[in-house]
Amino acid sequence: MQSRTYQGIGVGTSAAWGRTFVISKPKFASETKSSLDPATELNRLKGALAIVSQQFDQSTSAIDSVSSEIIKALQSMVQDPALVIEAEKHLTAGWDAETSIQKAMMSFTEALRGVPTFEDRVADLEDIALRVVAVLTHQIWNFELPETGPVVIVAEDLSPLETAQFTDAVVAVITSGGGPTSHTAIICRQKNIPALVAVDGALEIGNNVGVFVDAFEGIAKLSETPVTSEPKQIKRQRTEPLFVSLKGNIGNLEDAEVLAKTEASGVGLMRTELMFLSRTSAPSISEQTKLYTSILKSSPKGEFIFRTFDSAKDKPLAFYDNNPSEVLEEQLQAISDAQDLSGRSVSVMAPMLSNVQDVEDFVELARTKGIARVGVMVETVALTEVISELAGTVDFVSIGTNDLSRDLFKADREDSRFAGLLDPWQPELLRAVKGIVDAASKAGIEVGICGEAASDPLLGIVLAGLGVQSLSMAAPAVSEAIDYLSSVSLEQAQLITASALQGNTALETKELALAALPN
Ligand code: PEP
Ligand code: MG
Repeated sequence: MQSRTYQGIGVGTSAAWGRTFVISKPKFASETKSSLDPATELNRLKGALAIVSQQFDQSTSAIDSVSSEIIKALQSMVQDPALVIEAEKHLTAGWDAETSIQKAMMSFTEALRGVPTFEDRVADLEDIALRVVAVLTHQIWNFELPETGPVVIVAEDLSPLETAQFTDAVVAVITSGGGPTSHTAIICRQKNIPALVAVDGALEIGNNVGVFVDAFEGIAKLSETPVTSEPKQIKRQRTEPLFVSLKGNIGNLEDAEVLAKTEASGVGLMRTELMFLSRTSAPSISEQTKLYTSILKSSPKGEFIFRTFDSAKDKPLAFYDNNPSEVLEEQLQAISDAQDLSGRSVSVMAPMLSNVQDVEDFVELARTKGIARVGVMVETVALTEVISELAGTVDFVSIGTNDLSRDLFKADREDSRFAGLLDPWQPELLRAVKGIVDAASKAGIEVGICGEAASDPLLGIVLAGLGVQSLSMAAPAVSEAIDYLSSVSLEQAQLITASALQGNTALETKELALAALPN
């Protein structure tokens, strides 16, 4: 058992050793009638709700403002009197407190299912019911991450709330779920934490076990003694001028400050939604303007691309789906105001559009607001087919390889069964990128890539060889990407790309690219 090795999809290229800390969800055994009277069960339930509320109170002290807002939103759900009123119906029918809270929550979640704005809140509500069950049944749900380490987090998958709570003690992550473009993977790449996702049997590793996580090799090895390792990525010498522009992906002010310390020439993707995940109502124009202005002032020089709110399954924005047009208009106004206040000219792009009319409407609105450069993400298959029709409308397109792969393969980004299909070396994805680049270049439209594919330095050469003009990635990936890209000329990159495109599998394309890389 001690020498066991686990395999998965490595995120990043580094490695680290630490002791495991398992975040496992408590279990709700089964629906049970109580032998106690309903009033006693009601007291048990109210006591447990109070403890859960207190747990939320304690957790807000140690973490950043974004996660503390998410926690406050959850806390207000726990304190909602409607929850107790609903549970009392089941207590009166003789069910125990555990079953009654589950049933009460179920009646709320059933009502929300299918309502687009709230569908994504269902998981939060289910988590709350589980938290109450955990207290009632004395199960420990590890919520507070240790502050001293080195700690390797082991979990099924991690929510935005959990990743936002990572302390400096967290040196690596192993998850049984997720894939190369899941939320956990994106955050670990952003924080430079080696991670191994889609690992069969990860949760069996157990707590406080020594483990060495090697993201480059895609393995985790049990070892009670600390293991150190040298970086495995082949070091490349910078011998040629850079022929693509390298930018960074950010999601908040701190990311902007970290990126400013790298050689990135601007921001290729600002994921604006990440700062507002816990909001039930839209942030005001002035609040957004203030935030965007300080982010613009702290970011590296060069182009700065704001992506307007992207409300998706793994990062739902409750306020967005109610009134998307008004929210979008206000956001563009705030971006435009921040452009004036910061003295920087900015670019904006819309996510997830799939037809020409929607792109034209977006571009017109953004231009009316006075935004300097306007583009669109290409991350749906439908939009890849109409690139030539965007000539004269957009200034640029930015390929979101994460969602484009999801759409190409009909593969959920959070589901580990599809992790292999979402490998950015898949030849189908490379061919799709080539199609977009060829159509865009004929239409005179600039093309960049801001999906996770851009953060693999060898793949970066292949993408540049396909003809993209910029690559945007998490800050920790920037320096190595420049090493790789400036170790070859454009002609050499094109040869490497031609070779990679001969591959029929993700592994083949990667091996062919590696074999074609000059020494
Ligand atoms: C993408 O889909 O590739 C992308 C960059 O957007 P996100 O990962 O935020 O969905
Ligand atoms: Mg996307």
